[in-house]
Amino acid sequence: MRILIVLGCLGMGLVSGGVEEVMREPGMRGALEWMRTHQGWTLEQQISICEIAAPPFGEAERGKEFARRLGELGMEEVRTDSEGNVISRLPGTKGGKPVVVLSAHLDTVFPAGMDVKVYREGKRLRGLGMGDDCRGLAVVLTVARALREVKVEIPGTVLIVGTVGEEGQGDLRGVRHLFTKELAGQVDAFISVDGTGWRLTTRGVGSNRYKVTYKGRGGHSYGAFGMPNPAHAMGRAIARLADITVPQTPRTTFNVGTVTGGTSVNSVPIEVSMEVDLRSESPRELAALDERMKAALEGGLEAEKKRWPESKAPIELEVKSIGVRPAGEVGDDEPIVRKAMAAAQALGLPVLATGSGSTDANLPISLGIAAVTITGGGFSPNAHSIDEWYEEREDAYKGPQWAAVLVKLLAGN
Ligand SMILES: [Zn+2]
Repeated sequence: MRILIVLGCLGMGLVSGGVEEVMREPGMRGALEWMRTHQGWTLEQQISICEIAAPPFGEAERGKEFARRLGELGMEEVRTDSEGNVISRLPGTKGGKPVVVLSAHLDTVFPAGMDVKVYREGKRLRGLGMGDDCRGLAVVLTVARALREVKVEIPGTVLIVGTVGEEGQGDLRGVRHLFTKELAGQVDAFISVDGTGWRLTTRGVGSNRYKVTYKGRGGHSYGAFGMPNPAHAMGRAIARLADITVPQTPRTTFNVGTVTGGTSVNSVPIEVSMEVDLRSESPRELAALDERMKAALEGGLEAEKKRWPESKAPIELEVKSIGVRPAGEVGDDEPIVRKAMAAAQALGLPVLATGSGSTDANLPISLGIAAVTITGGGFSPNAHSIDEWYEEREDAYKGPQWAAVLVKLLAGN
């Protein structure tokens, strides 16, 4: 975390004039006022979109409804791409540069078949995904409606998007498709609205995930003793992995998350597997850790072979990638960060420092495209848990306002 007194000063000196100008424009003033007085509408959108299930790889139904709403709000060229992302264009901005994408993710972490109804318990709205990321979807719909109804003039092109596959298993497949195929080379800036509260994420924590398998011939634990044992090889590899030292800054971590395999206590296993998760804020550190992990896996295999030099029984190692999230960082001095910070300050939001996270913005950041993730306001503490709930706050309307001001600052004014 950086302390943002310096950043604050930069913001004031170089861009806050722009923010104040933008916020004083009659069109924008109208849109900001509209968002404040329609806070209830935003919350209705959040609840109703959340009551449509969107499990990993099963976002189609929610995507269809999101697309329908965008059409109803007057967005143009509403379409669903071959991966399932919903894309639309704010009217009146066709072909203009720069191209800015305002996006939230459609998917949740929750499997199909769970109860997605939203229940009111006092001030709390209990519902799976209410904060992550039904809030973001509602914010995006609100910005689309406000900018359209009040007819805010924006010279650039604004694309309003809902992505699929943001959460773990999805491996950013939606946003990856967007930036490598659907909109490849076209996007100048990307804003993801993800989660609640007030945070600005500018550093994408990268991760590499692997399924690692050791395979051997197997046999009786007593009768066949004396051959390389896949479980022992994996144990040696885990011990090597566990001893790797990683920097604290940039934060870099590793984890063996699951260990499975074997058939019985008195059999040399034919196969054992583990899943490994490596993370870092720095692409360089992640790559270095990746190399060292692979060396540890090979080292475990070789040491187990050496233990039984007489044995002809084969043993092998298989390393399969099950997830890649690129790491990357947008510097605090980059215009998109300064503008996001200045917009937050102008709205009186307590955003004091930039943070790191793993979101849709990782992908464009890794490609060198200006991208940030902002939050949508309100309060929701238990994302990814079945105890997820959302509490509306008096100033939650500032979520859509933050996104709208940033869109306007980025798409030209
Ligand atoms: Zn999310």
